[in-house]
Amino acid sequence: MSYEASQSRYDNIKTRRVGHSGLILPEISLGLWHNFGSVDDFANQKAILHRAFDLGVFHFDLANNYGPIPGSAEENFGQHLRDGLAKYRDELIISSKAGYDMWPGPFGEWGSRKYLTASLDQSLKRMGLEYVDIFYSHRFDPNTPLEETMGALAKAVHDGKALYVGISSYSPADTARAKEILDGLGVPLTIHQPRYSMFDRTPENGLLTELERINVGAIVFSPLAQGLLTDRYFKGIPEGSRASKAVFLKENQVSEKYLTAALALNELAAARGQTLSQLALSWVLRKGIVSSALIGASSVAQLESNLAALDSPTLTQSELHAIEPLAIHGLG
Ligand code: NDP
Repeated sequence: MSYEASQSRYDNIKTRRVGHSGLILPEISLGLWHNFGSVDDFANQKAILHRAFDLGVFHFDLANNYGPIPGSAEENFGQHLRDGLAKYRDELIISSKAGYDMWPGPFGEWGSRKYLTASLDQSLKRMGLEYVDIFYSHRFDPNTPLEETMGALAKAVHDGKALYVGISSYSPADTARAKEILDGLGVPLTIHQPRYSMFDRTPENGLLTELERINVGAIVFSPLAQGLLTDRYFKGIPEGSRASKAVFLKENQVSEKYLTAALALNELAAARGQTLSQLALSWVLRKGIVSSALIGASSVAQLESNLAALDSPTLTQSELHAIEPLAIHGLG
């Protein structure tokens, strides 16, 4: 049976405007870095995507290299679009990125005009799209002039292949330069995608302030520290969990120090009537400059539980104070 989205999909979702732009995002967006590759269960992917959209999550974040195998998340997403989501294309915000290793040779990664342009064409083909809503430079390239990388983003917009452009994991100074260059090209820098969670507070060292100054919105990735800010590892490392696969989340990150902090945060969350993951999401969303928290999910149940964070009471000053010694930079 073909997919029909829920009529009530916008009833409960909260949204935020991204900086000084027309772009609006759900406060929680869904990323396809893990769980959507060729090695992952296709029916489970579909169930997660449909449930997300039914609950008002209209932003899906991809990149050229998401898989495994690299590229397969975009291929699968293209199939999910064709299987039903595509009729809602005008409601969807779909992003892709280029920056990491994708194909052999000097033009298969980083920030050259050649790589970004070819990669976006490949991404569009894999997803069966005419344009993406947001195209990102996935990482700063220290060896390519920033003018060239930003020029490639601007070209994507001028060619009609992207509506908005963004950068990911750029320093505050490089962010300011990127904005200036893009302004000169008549294409605004709309969004920044940094990693931010209670266990990685790097953006507090100048980036969030810089984004406020230049009025560019943030969508923050891994707000659950890849699952560490949930109850996933309270009783060891479950089979099939991200830490059990030990590629991006190492088993030794599930340490005693980590567990002590996570259990204490879990108690604070319980006192608010929340789960730890819901507290972690409320915490990143306490910053107005954060337009959206970009989560991952390996099941519909995880997705639903995380979305319930949007019904949470606002964090009080005394709650924030209690969280402070437990939000330990470097555990994520
Ligand atoms: P999260 O921090 O949200 O981690 C998601 C993982 O946490 C899930 O796969 C799941 O792990 C676990 N989890 C989620 N919810 C629950 C729950 N309620 N209970 C128990 N466990 C839970 O984000 P990700 O690290 O997945 O990143 C999110 C997105 O951010 C990516 O998909 C991508 O789009 C983007 N990203 C961007 C990067 C960049 O360089 N710009 C880099 C990394 C990510 P499990 O699989 O073990 O069930």
